Amino acid sequence: MRAMVLHKGAHRLQFEQVDSPRPDAGQLRLKIEACGVCRTDLHIIDGDLTHPSLPLIPGHEIVGTVAQIGEAAGGFALGQRVGVPWLGHTCGTCRYCVNNRENLCDDPGFTGYTLNGGYAEECVADARYVFALDGHDDPAALAPLLCAGLIGFRSLRLAGDAQRLGFYGFGAAAHILAQIAVWQGREIYAFTRPGDTAAQAFARETGAVWAGGSDETSPVLLDAALIFAPVGALVPKALKDLVKGGRVVCGGIHMSDIPSFAYDDLWHERQILSVANLTREDGETFFPLARRAGVRTQITPYRLERANEALDDLRQGRLQGAAVLLPSQNA
Ligand SMILES: [Zn+2]
Ligand SMILES: [Zn+2]
Repeated sequence: MRAMVLHKGAHRLQFEQVDSPRPDAGQLRLKIEACGVCRTDLHIIDGDLTHPSLPLIPGHEIVGTVAQIGEAAGGFALGQRVGVPWLGHTCGTCRYCVNNRENLCDDPGFTGYTLNGGYAEECVADARYVFALDGHDDPAALAPLLCAGLIGFRSLRLAGDAQRLGFYGFGAAAHILAQIAVWQGREIYAFTRPGDTAAQAFARETGAVWAGGSDETSPVLLDAALIFAPVGALVPKALKDLVKGGRVVCGGIHMSDIPSFAYDDLWHERQILSVANLTREDGETFFPLARRAGVRTQITPYRLERANEALDDLRQGRLQGAAVLLPSQNA
């Protein structure tokens, strides 16, 4: 099959022919229809996340159909549309797994990081971490839901019942979460790179009541701030935008260092927390909710062999919404 592969010491992906994977017990083999490009893929390729299993096929926003069912991998039918997220495996026995906190598992497997992912024509996946998806939707439009949507949704959950929400960074995750939050009757305040008027217009079109630069003070005090940009300096900035008791939720897996700030900014029970991975329960709640809320993703499609170009466009901030690779489109 055709695949984009990351090799040791390389910072670009290589387009290659590799053997098709075979499903072990408990796994499914999928024919991949679409795979989203997530900022975490950049952090893996750039070496910010330091433990990839190399050589590696990246990609953890996989939409495909079931092509083969491994021994004891129940619950799915051949040809069924499914999705594979970032969390691809857990041990099932550590203290976190047995206490419904499998997102914090001590011995996890991550799709497109420690397990081969979706920048390819096929993949295998642990059937326990595969979600059933609607067979009628456009697979490319579904792909960003698998991480930007799903882990973004976990961030939104951690914001509690906050009515006035700040989104810092308005890319793939924010554009999905804004639609859900507006559908839930909340107000979104969007903070983009200073001067990025296109992103601010995109945020307003997606339902934000206000959009401006991340260097601007929020026009109202916020109940919670969700930080999607990997910029640690936004944390103390967002704290200053919060009501007493408000919460800053850091939604990314990697962030630059957080500068020091005055204890006064944290005072009055303000909180800062990070979001790690996802649970299956997040997925079982999120996918039906996204459907009810009528979430529409904005995507830019790329053929598989153009993955490096998609990654560059993400890195340079040239995308509005999400980049998606289409492995089934031939060169
Ligand atoms: Zn575990
Ligand atoms: Zn991701």
